[in-house]
Amino acid sequence: MIFDSIKRTVLVVDPTAKNRAQICDCLAQLPEIEAISAADGAQALDLFRECQPSLVLLDISLHDTDSLALAHAMRNWECANEQYGFASWTPIVFLSAVMDEEVLARGILAGGDDFLYKPVSEMVLLAKVRSMLRIVGMQQEIHEAHRQLREISRLDALTNIPNRRYFDETLAAEWKRCIRTESPLSIVIGDVDFFKQFNDIYSHQAGDACLKAVASSLNESLFRVEDMVARYGGEEFAAILPGTDASGAHAVAERMHRSARELSIPHEKGVGGLVSCSFGIATLRPSGHDLPIKLLQAADAALYVAKSAGRNQIKVAEAWR
Ligand code: GH3
Ligand code: MG
Ligand code: MG
Repeated sequence: MIFDSIKRTVLVVDPTAKNRAQICDCLAQLPEIEAISAADGAQALDLFRECQPSLVLLDISLHDTDSLALAHAMRNWECANEQYGFASWTPIVFLSAVMDEEVLARGILAGGDDFLYKPVSEMVLLAKVRSMLRIVGMQQEIHEAHRQLREISRLDALTNIPNRRYFDETLAAEWKRCIRTESPLSIVIGDVDFFKQFNDIYSHQAGDACLKAVASSLNESLFRVEDMVARYGGEEFAAILPGTDASGAHAVAERMHRSARELSIPHEKGVGGLVSCSFGIATLRPSGHDLPIKLLQAADAALYVAKSAGRNQIKVAEAWR
C-alpha cells in the first residue's frame, strides 16, 4: 500500500480540556498518528479545512455548535472541494456519553460513520482508529487509481497528446468561459499531407513514428498554458486557443506549420520531398446563440481550401458567420 508510510492527522473535538488531553495521550501510542484538537465547532471546522485530517473523533455533547451540524458542515466542505471529480470522505466517529439510538441514527444521517460510547477503553479506541485509517488508506488508493485512469483516458495512446474526448470536453468548457469573459476563441485544424502515400511507401510503423513526431512538434508550438492541441482523428490535429484573436491564431498556426515542416521527415510524394501539414483557422467571439461545432466546421472548411490550394499552407475561414 503506497499510503502506508504517510503520517495521519486525527482531529479530536471535545469541549472538555481533560477529555481532549486523555484522547490525545491515548492516540500518542500510535506513532503514525499526529493528534490535533479543538474545543468548539468553529475551531474544529477551521482545523478541518486547514489540516484536512484523516479522521475526526467528535464528542456529541459539543455545547456551542450542534455536533451534528458540525459533521454536516464538514461533509459540505468536502463536497465543495472535490478533486478530479472525487470528494474525499473523512471518517467521523462520534463519542457519546449516552446510549441513544435516535441520536445515533441522526448522527449517521448527518455524515457520521460510527459511534463510541464513553468511557471508551484505550484498546477499543485504538482499534477503532486503526480500522478507520485502514479504510482511509484504501479510499486514497482508489482516488489515486481514479486520477491515473482519468489522465490516461484523456491522452491519445500513440502520440501521448490529448485525445478527441479531452478536446471535446475542453472546447465545451472554453466556449463557456469565453462567453463569460467576452473573449475570442480560435481553432486551428492541421492535417498531414499525402499521409496515405507516406504509409504506403514507408510502412504503417514509419507512419506511426511520423505521427508521434508531428504531434510533439505541434504541441511544442503552443506557449500558453490554456492552449491545447489534440489528436482529432487519424492524421488530423486540432488546437484550441482561448482568448486568442485571428491574428494571434495565425501566428500560432505559422509556428505549428513551421515546426512540423522542420522535422524534415523525407516523403518522396510529399511537397518538396518532405512531410508537411496543411492548416485551417477559424476565430469567433462565442455567444449563447452559436455552438462550438460551427467553429470547428469553419476551421475544417478552411483546411479544405488549404488542401485544394496545393497543401503545405495555412488558410483562414472567411465570411462564414
Ligand atoms: P491529404 O493530403 O488530402 O490529407 O491526403 P492524405 O493521404 O493525408 O489523407 P487520407 O485521408 O487519404 O489518408 C489519411 C491516412 O492516414 C490514411 C490512414 O491510413 C492514415 N492514418 C490514420 N491514422 C493513422 C495511424 O494511427 N497510423 C498510421 N500509420 N496511419 C494512420
Ligand atoms: Mg492528410
Ligand atoms: Mg485527414
